[in-house]
Amino acid sequence: MSFTSITNKALAGDLPTDREIRAVMEAEEEQLPELLRAAHAVRTHHFGGTVSLCAIVNARSGRCSENCSFCAQSSHHRTQAPEYPLLAPEKIAQAARRAAAAGARRFGIVASGKFVGGSDFEGYVRAVRLVAEAGLLPDMSPGILTTEQIKSLKAAGLFGYHHNLETSATYFPQVCTTHEYEEDVQAVKTALECGLYVCSGGIFGIGESWDDRVEMALLLRDLEVPSVPVNFLTPIPGTPLEHRPMMDPAEALRIVALYRFLLPDRAIRICGGRLAVFGEARKAELLGSGASGLMVGDYLTTKGGAVESDLREIREAGMEIEQL
Ligand code: SF4
Repeated sequence: MSFTSITNKALAGDLPTDREIRAVMEAEEEQLPELLRAAHAVRTHHFGGTVSLCAIVNARSGRCSENCSFCAQSSHHRTQAPEYPLLAPEKIAQAARRAAAAGARRFGIVASGKFVGGSDFEGYVRAVRLVAEAGLLPDMSPGILTTEQIKSLKAAGLFGYHHNLETSATYFPQVCTTHEYEEDVQAVKTALECGLYVCSGGIFGIGESWDDRVEMALLLRDLEVPSVPVNFLTPIPGTPLEHRPMMDPAEALRIVALYRFLLPDRAIRICGGRLAVFGEARKAELLGSGASGLMVGDYLTTKGGAVESDLREIREAGMEIEQL
């Protein structure tokens, strides 16, 4: 089956049929170049030749009350992930300035935990203000925020809110039992209603099926989330998923392509697990797979690659960094 019809549908903003979705899921290795070219054409239609770069700082690490099975920061698992309270705002700003010098235009302040406690909140407000002053668009991933907290953070310059759904509603109970999926969906809706730029996506390779992948993409489409982070599991010793295999790069590329067809005009950002899955050898393929953005630098609890190598890859692909 060729990918012409699914491409045309995506360009028109229409959903593919089940048969067309299945053809992407089941694409053989020799069909991969054609599939990726098709997904890349949709991406180019909406985003031209620009690649959006973002970076994060792990602003508060570990001791999370939730039990997400993939996560090094859950207090339910025994991992080697660092544990520390919220970093001083000036330290967060230093990381932002380094990211700006490396080419990032968006900077995420990421913290473990389900909610933001009162004593931390003022620190976040100050950190957001300093990141904005460093010339970056500040994003936050602090867990669930109230409408009042969002208003205060927006007044300080907050641009974006990041809250992953992680997987489908159907599979979520296999991933986390300490909170309901609907709480995460509501957190995304609240941030969208408050006018924040919302990044919400998930993690792949945690035992979910292709149907779960499609289910999450369709929910994100319905929610009108503008930006979808795609993470691939790096199995962390001490978590329940420590023995899961790394995802096969060809499968990861099929996921990215499928998300481009299901979410044609949304930013699709490849984040955690990028280097672990693709290595240096195959990471160039990602730029031609339908992805429109990359997280650069280190991830939350795992190392990323050298930013210079990502920038070189982008130049060699004839693309350029998005200027905001
Ligand atoms: S993914 Fe987030 S909510 Fe879940 S355990 Fe990790 S830090 Fe906590």
